[in-house]
Amino acid sequence: MANNLGLAVKPVTEIPEEEVKRVAEWINTEEYKEKNFARQSLVINPAHACQPLGAELVAHAFEGTLPFVHGSQGCASYYRSTLNRHFREPAPAVSDAMTEDGAVFGGQNNLHEGLENAYALYKPKMMAIFTSCMPEIIGDDLTAFIKNARQKGCIPQDFPVPYANTPSFNGSHIHGYDAMLLSILQTLTSGKQVEGRCTGKLNLVPGFDANTGNFREYKRIFEAFGIPYTILGDISDVFDSPLDGTYRPYPGGTKLDEAADSINGKVTLNLGTYSAAKTFNWVKDNYSGKHVTMPLPFGIAKTDAFLMKISELFGKPVPESLKAERGRAVDLMTDAHQYIHGKKFAVYGDPDYLLGYVSFLLEMGAKPYHILCSKGTKKLEKELQALLDTSPYGKDGKIYINKDLWHLRSLVMTDPVDAVIGDTHGKFLARDANIPLFRFGFPIFDRVNLHRVPVIGYQGVMNMVATICNKFIEVVDETCDERQFEMMR
Ligand code: SF4
Repeated sequence: MANNLGLAVKPVTEIPEEEVKRVAEWINTEEYKEKNFARQSLVINPAHACQPLGAELVAHAFEGTLPFVHGSQGCASYYRSTLNRHFREPAPAVSDAMTEDGAVFGGQNNLHEGLENAYALYKPKMMAIFTSCMPEIIGDDLTAFIKNARQKGCIPQDFPVPYANTPSFNGSHIHGYDAMLLSILQTLTSGKQVEGRCTGKLNLVPGFDANTGNFREYKRIFEAFGIPYTILGDISDVFDSPLDGTYRPYPGGTKLDEAADSINGKVTLNLGTYSAAKTFNWVKDNYSGKHVTMPLPFGIAKTDAFLMKISELFGKPVPESLKAERGRAVDLMTDAHQYIHGKKFAVYGDPDYLLGYVSFLLEMGAKPYHILCSKGTKKLEKELQALLDTSPYGKDGKIYINKDLWHLRSLVMTDPVDAVIGDTHGKFLARDANIPLFRFGFPIFDRVNLHRVPVIGYQGVMNMVATICNKFIEVVDETCDERQFEMMR
């Protein structure tokens, strides 16, 4: 081996070529799979990120809001770069950059200096503070620190500063999202409830979803119904802003006054029962109007249920345009079912997305076969199993909760499937298994534009069917012999 100066580099450990080959083959065996599944204290390539990343996503989703990381600079760079690479848009956030002295004496000074500078320099309308691991381990008291910051004049007394503890050794990005959203709504709606007032609006709590196309799709559906709405945490313009030569640090997001008034809403609808669970529990106890929680509208049946629920809640019929769209989605499913029917899939991701993938595949007569969530609960396992039990295509499906993508690699190498659905992290196992990976989740670092392509609603059904079936057809074209290379597929 030679470096770029042409000098020979001596490997630290010499491993004979035959040994490399033997191990490469061994990790594809049943024997290795058993050892892999006996692993207890080590996680390899988890299919989730840490809590503060989710907190940062939802902080960006409100008008003029600056996400503020109380903790380490390196962690803050990780959340920003992950969001930046997924959306290919800036993710402007600040950190109070705690270092060794902060770890010993506490991070209050960092927080105060950071708040004062960020307020003066970036002129936000709100700063949403969340923590990395370090201040959580040493037990920094955010409540007291922020109170002291106001007393010292680092920020004005009435400046909104929601804050959330987001310890990463617990939970995942969806829990951080939930904790931060809860604090933002608690802060903005405090004292805003007015007896007898009803905005007449639908509040949508979409939970952690990094697909701006989904947000635009929700808006299109509500507008087709003619229903006024407020999306509580709207990332669509924030992470999908036009390139027009002007840099805007805070493009879009839910208006703060609308979010404040959401407490007087007519209906609050939470889509996805896992990624905003605590927020929704609080909403039920504190918001006026009706409160409804439903799964994400993936596939036909769940989209039907979503639209019929809106129709029922607002006393408006499902618009003809959406009925026609349903018909087109069903037509495509019928045209394309032959390319996907009976195919086996490995699927992984966040709980709400995972439930969506499984519903969609069952509707297409495909088999969700290895179903993996690297941060899940018994409740999720039961819900997935109940879904599998609704269809003959679900009878061979197996659920793996709190397992990682190295486990999934063992599964697809020993008990093969036709394709994988997940995010970019699965590309290594998909390559090893020589099967396609369909990137519908978060994060997607290695393809362009997919965060703009909706996967919810009837439009989402059409996008997923077309993406999957066209890829299977392409594989046939690429791999068939000359005699079978045909015009029609
Ligand atoms: S897990 Fe903890 S240390 Fe690692 S990036 Fe997240 S907050 Fe930082």
